[in-house]
Amino acid sequence: MQMEKYQKHFLNNFRKKLEEWEAKQEVEHKEVYRFVHSLAGTASTLGLDRIGDLARKLMDRMDEEEERLWTNAELKATLYEIIEAYYRLEEATVVTEFKGKKGRDGEEPVVLVIDDDTSFLMYMKEELENIGWYVVPIANPEKAVNTFYDVRPDCAIIDIHMDESNGFEVLDFFKHKLKQPFIPMVMVSVDGRKDVRMKSYELGADDFIQKPFELDEFIIRVKRQMQRKKQFEELILIDELTHVYNRKFLTQAYEQVKNGWDRRKEPSSIAVIDIDHFKKVNDRYGHLVGDKVLVGFAKFLKEKARVQDLLVRYGGEEFVIIFQNTNVQDAHSFLDAWREEFSERVFKENTPFSCTFSAGLTEITDPAKPLEEWLSKADQALYEAKEKGRNKVEIDSDSTDIQHNKVIKVAIVDDDPIIRTVMRDIVSKLPTEQNIQYEIKSFKDGALFMESDWHRDSLCLVILDGVMPKMDGLEVLERLRRQKDSDQYKVLMLTSRSSEKDISRSLQLGADDYMTKPFKLLELEARLGQILKRMR
Ligand code: GH3
Ligand code: MG
Ligand code: MG
Repeated sequence: MQMEKYQKHFLNNFRKKLEEWEAKQEVEHKEVYRFVHSLAGTASTLGLDRIGDLARKLMDRMDEEEERLWTNAELKATLYEIIEAYYRLEEATVVTEFKGKKGRDGEEPVVLVIDDDTSFLMYMKEELENIGWYVVPIANPEKAVNTFYDVRPDCAIIDIHMDESNGFEVLDFFKHKLKQPFIPMVMVSVDGRKDVRMKSYELGADDFIQKPFELDEFIIRVKRQMQRKKQFEELILIDELTHVYNRKFLTQAYEQVKNGWDRRKEPSSIAVIDIDHFKKVNDRYGHLVGDKVLVGFAKFLKEKARVQDLLVRYGGEEFVIIFQNTNVQDAHSFLDAWREEFSERVFKENTPFSCTFSAGLTEITDPAKPLEEWLSKADQALYEAKEKGRNKVEIDSDSTDIQHNKVIKVAIVDDDPIIRTVMRDIVSKLPTEQNIQYEIKSFKDGALFMESDWHRDSLCLVILDGVMPKMDGLEVLERLRRQKDSDQYKVLMLTSRSSEKDISRSLQLGADDYMTKPFKLLELEARLGQILKRMR
């Protein structure tokens, strides 16, 4: 017991020292040496062997007499191993094991849970993540629709009786308006009367489970629904909303190109097509109108396409067309004419409006190469079309072989230097995809983050500490959510395990996920991976 007290004291001093150094521009070598020296001596005495060992090794590499100044970045880099060891000590105090999958592969089922009762959300999140599912909690049903598109869940669990709105409305909206018939919807309610159950089924619910339920049975029932969805999806090659082929068909389409090539040795071309500023359509007129535009656009493309052209909805508002036996110049003149015609179309909603699209094109000169190669070339060209002002069709040019990167900013807002350091290291080591680039910046408090222009006008993941001096995380979250461009920000809240009130409040304010401190580094990695995947 006594030992623990000293350890705690020692670790607090360590933290304080880091804070003190951060406040300075530069630190004298003498001071750094003295500090490492004392770490080496004291840590092992107090039973903190790993820190002691690391400090001793570091000391061996340092020259006491050296005359130099250390910058903050240099200090952090040099002390990183020790800081991490320190963090792991705290991590070791986490009682519950994080059993979730290691993330990354994106294979874990994603479940949307919609309930204004935040304690139910917290409970479900904890339990279901223990079996390796990823849970997206939604306390505010109004947020449900947007999240549905972003998250593309494998299942939605909807509480029927909510204060502000009614679970039936959410169900009805998902099942009928969004035209997502295969995503299982499971209704839950304390009220298990027959008419409630009947209404659920009538509106298309795939199951009704009365609260309170036994978790093991609940899990089996939901799992069964998700398996069915998976089987369906494997069979189906047609996109539910637009009724053109979905991306699973692309592999087959490419086979056709290969066969054609073997027979005639004629080139084919491939285009990636993307509606311009589609987000604005959703924002201005709602998702249903957005859906109508997608349906209309797909129909337009289908009308224009010739028999040999293969049309696929690639995802969201992106389509792919393979122009078989067509060289890239010819494909360009088709597409460009379509572009012009489409831009003149008027969607006759309450307020009539028009849309444009941009496209990137490339010629498939060697079908022995993987399809991804052509898609990525066409994608680069699409990027150029967007850069040049949209409503354009661009052909990829091999001369401009520079990779264009989409930047996602990651803000770490935490007053604890240990957390900031560990967090930054983890984010910087996250596997990146071809054309995604992370820019990381840490902030010591909420006020500094809010004042900063660094994150304006870009996609930003905010890792936000709940409790901070000056402006705490909840206030930052509240402000962000009031901003017009609130959508640009995904927020991962860090709260203390004991404070259910803070978790509950952050969910109500629209946090995208939360984690309780101290957390396992593995868990952090998995969560960051999940959120970032959905920001691409
Ligand atoms: P850009 O001109 O750069 O392409 O801008 P954008 O707004 O079109 O592009 P972005 O990719 O940022 O936004 C696409 C939006 O499409 C985001 C997503 O919520 C929405 N979306 C994706 N799938 C669907 C869908 O099936 N229906 C509706 N209504 N919206 C969707
Ligand atoms: Mg777009
Ligand atoms: Mg897009």
